[in-house]
Amino acid sequence: MRKSLKAVAAGAACVVAGAALYGAGAATAGQSTANSTHEPYNIGQLVKDIDTYYGTTADSNGVYQASEDSPYAEDLARIDGDAKRYIDKAARKAHHRGEKPAVVFDIDDTLLLSLDYEKRYNYTYNATTWNDYVNKADRPAVFGSPELVRYAESKGVEVFYNSGLSEAQRAGAVENLKKVGADVNLDAGHMFLKDKANPPAYLKDCATPGTWSCTTVQYKAGTRAHIEDDLGYEIIANFGDQYSDLDGGHADRTYKLPNPTYFVG
Ligand SMILES: [Mg+2]
Repeated sequence: MRKSLKAVAAGAACVVAGAALYGAGAATAGQSTANSTHEPYNIGQLVKDIDTYYGTTADSNGVYQASEDSPYAEDLARIDGDAKRYIDKAARKAHHRGEKPAVVFDIDDTLLLSLDYEKRYNYTYNATTWNDYVNKADRPAVFGSPELVRYAESKGVEVFYNSGLSEAQRAGAVENLKKVGADVNLDAGHMFLKDKANPPAYLKDCATPGTWSCTTVQYKAGTRAHIEDDLGYEIIANFGDQYSDLDGGHADRTYKLPNPTYFVG
């Protein structure tokens, strides 16, 4: 569930200026709680910092785009380089042991960048405008992520998607992922989306048909447990832009991609 602009600002400040403001301990603690009684980072300054971080510019259609030479792009390149080296090694080991290695990707701001939406709506969230945006299926890739998806596939690693998007957003998500070149395993057996009306049996601890009380961590970790325990894969790496994508286990390694624009608890 997305937090209000104030909460976004407090959480995002940790990413942009965490070490300076809150100390290294707080900055690495996962931002899962409000930090302190310090005066929060100035929200106007924070918006500027976010633009600088992404190298945000409006293209000829007025769509806000990140720059390929931005600090954001540099952070992603470093993470992707590390992930590729790890996937290569971990895949070899898994195959040697007779395991079926898999990787799991979140979608929003892990594969598809929502910067234009976030900036346009001043880092707030509205279900209707968000749904329209997603279903336009015209988001750009998070730099390097489609390549990472294809790299994993090339190493014999099964690619899965684990997203909070709804079933009603499936067609848009598939079309958009194809468009950016993440055209790997975009079938319903590999792309897990949220179906609150008819939740799968493996989420029975927090959801039954007609009732849904799963937190993001319960939903996402429960889906990874299904991939491992029911489908028989070993998840070697899990990629997400939120800590709630990564908490709850069922992955040998987690990769946190940068996103200072909103917080999903
Ligand atoms: Mg995400």
